[in-house]
Amino acid sequence: MSDATVIDDPDIVLVGSGIMSANLGALLKRLDPNLKIQLYEVTDELAQEASNAWNNAGTGHAGICELSYTPFVGEDGSVDITKAVEVFQEFEQSKQFWAHAVSSGMVDQPSDFINPVPHVSFVYGQNQVDFLTSRHEGLKQHHFFRDMEFSTDPDVIRQWAPLLIEGRAEMPVAATKMDAGTDVNFGAIARKLMRWLDEQEGCNVATGHRVVDLSETQSGHWDVEVRDLATGRKFTSRAKFVFVGAGGGSLPLLQKSGIPESLEFGGFPIGGQWLVCDTPEVVAQHQAKVYGQAQDEAPTMAVPHLDTRVIDGKKALLFGPFAAWTTKFLHKGGRWTDLFRSLSLGNVGPMIRVGLSEIPLVKYLIEQGTQSMESRIKLLRTYYPQAKYRDWKLVDAGIRVQAIKKEDGQAGIVHYGTEVVSNTNKTIAALLGASPGASVSVSIMLDVVETCMPHLIHEEPGKSIIKQLVPTYGLDLLPASAADEYTSLSRAAASVLGLC
Ligand SMILES: Cc1cc2nc3c(=O)[nH]c(=O)nc-3n(C[C@H](O)[C@H](O)[C@H](O)COP(=O)(O)OP(=O)(O)OC[C@H]3O[C@@H](n4cnc5c(N)ncnc54)[C@H](O)[C@@H]3O)c2cc1C
Repeated sequence: MSDATVIDDPDIVLVGSGIMSANLGALLKRLDPNLKIQLYEVTDELAQEASNAWNNAGTGHAGICELSYTPFVGEDGSVDITKAVEVFQEFEQSKQFWAHAVSSGMVDQPSDFINPVPHVSFVYGQNQVDFLTSRHEGLKQHHFFRDMEFSTDPDVIRQWAPLLIEGRAEMPVAATKMDAGTDVNFGAIARKLMRWLDEQEGCNVATGHRVVDLSETQSGHWDVEVRDLATGRKFTSRAKFVFVGAGGGSLPLLQKSGIPESLEFGGFPIGGQWLVCDTPEVVAQHQAKVYGQAQDEAPTMAVPHLDTRVIDGKKALLFGPFAAWTTKFLHKGGRWTDLFRSLSLGNVGPMIRVGLSEIPLVKYLIEQGTQSMESRIKLLRTYYPQAKYRDWKLVDAGIRVQAIKKEDGQAGIVHYGTEVVSNTNKTIAALLGASPGASVSVSIMLDVVETCMPHLIHEEPGKSIIKQLVPTYGLDLLPASAADEYTSLSRAAASVLGLC
C-alpha cells in the first residue's frame, strides 16, 4: 500500500488510518460505489496510533461496566442511566456494521477483532456497594441490561473473577456481570476495512504519506498537500470533501485548514501507561474486564481496570491506564512541541484558563506518570490483592487529545467526549477528542455522513442500503415495546461476530 498509485481528483480524502477513517471510508463506498476515495496515512503501517490494540483498552464500551456513565441523582440514591443506554445503543451500531462487513465478505475472521469477554463492575466498602446496588437497580429496568447479574457474595464474585477475591481482607464487596461484554481489537478491524477499501475500484490507501496542508479552493473544493515520505515528493490532491481523522494530528491540520470553526479549539493531551502481565498461570485465572471507581482527581477515562485482552490471538492481562502528563499529540509520530505549536491567537485564552483552572489535573497527571512501580502495584492490589511485582511490566499506551472550546467562556474546561467539527459548507469535517471513542466510531461516522452528505443516507439507493449496512440505523430501540426487535437484531449480529 505504501507504493501507492494515488487517485487523481478524488471525491473524498480521508486523513489517517485509524478506526474512524476506516469505518467512514467503508460506509461511504458501500453507500455510493461510484465514489472515488483516497486515504493518506503518515506511518508505514495502518492504524498504529490510538486505534492500535496496545494503545487503547479494547473495551467495547456499552455502558455495562463503566461506573462513570451512571452518576448518582436525587436524594434517594438513584442513578441516571441515560448515558449508559446511549453508549450501549451506539456500540450496537458498530457491531451491526462489522457483522454486515463479515457476512458480506468485506472482512474475514471476526475473532481477529472482537471476542466475548464478560464486563464486570467491582466495588468495595459500604458506600461503593450502595452505589453499585442502585446502579444495578436502575440498569436492570432496561431491556439492554436485563441479563446483568449482581452479587454481594464473595463466593459468587470469586466464580466470576477469582483474582478479585483471593487474599482480600474482610470488607463489603459487590459486583455486576454481563456476559455480553466484548474485547475489541480496533486496529485489526480498521486494517481489514481499509484493505477492503483499497481493493475497490476508484479507491486507494496510501501509507507513508503525510498530509501537510489543507486549503479551500475558490470553487469550494479542498487542495490537500501531501508529502510522500519515501521519495520526498510533494503533491496536491484536490477533493470535494475531506475527513480529518488524524487522531492527535487532527487539531493541527484543522487549524491549517483556516476554517473559522477551527479557531475555537485547543487540545489538551493526556498520555497513558499500562501494567501488562503475560504469566500464563495468572492470565488463565481471569476472563473479564473489571472496572471500578475513579481515584481522587482521575479523569473519567483514567479509571483503571483489570482487563483480559486478546491481541493477535494471544491472551494477556492489562491493568490501567495510568494517566500521564505529555505535550505530544501522537504516540509514535508526535513531537514534544505539539502542544505549544497548537497555540494560536484564537485558542490561547481558553488554553491559559484551562492551565490555571486544571492545575489539580495537571498535578495529578505528573504524579501519575512519575510514580514508582511499587505505587502502581499498590493500586493494582486494590483490584487483585495477590498480584506479584515480578509478573508485571510497564508499557506506554496511546495519547488522547481532549478538546478545549473557546465558547466555554471564563471556565477552563477539558472535554472528555468527542467533537466533530465541520465548516458551514460541510466540505470538511474533523474529529477531535477520544471518548468513548473507537466503540462508538460507526455512530460518529454516520453522524458525519448525515451532516455532510445527507443525500447518501436519506435518498435512494442509500436509504435502502443503510438498512443492510446497519439494520438498527434510524430505529428507536429504547422503549420497552422495542425489546423484541432489539433482541432479534442484536442476536443476529452477535451470531455473525461469533459472540454467542
Ligand atoms: C489509553 C487509551 C485507552 C483507550 N481505551 C479505549 C477503549 O477501551 N475503548 C474505546 O472504544 N476507545 C478507547 N480509546 C479511544 C480510542 O483509542 C480512540 O477513540 C480511537 O482509536 C481514535 O481513532 P482515530 O481513527 O480517530 O485516531 P487514530 O487511531 O489515532 O488514527 C489517526 C491516524 O492518523 C494518522 N495521522 C496523523 N497525522 C497525520 C497526517 N498529517 N497525515 C496523515 N496521517 C496522519 C496517524 O498516524 C494515525 O494512524 C482509548 C484511547 C487511549 C489513548
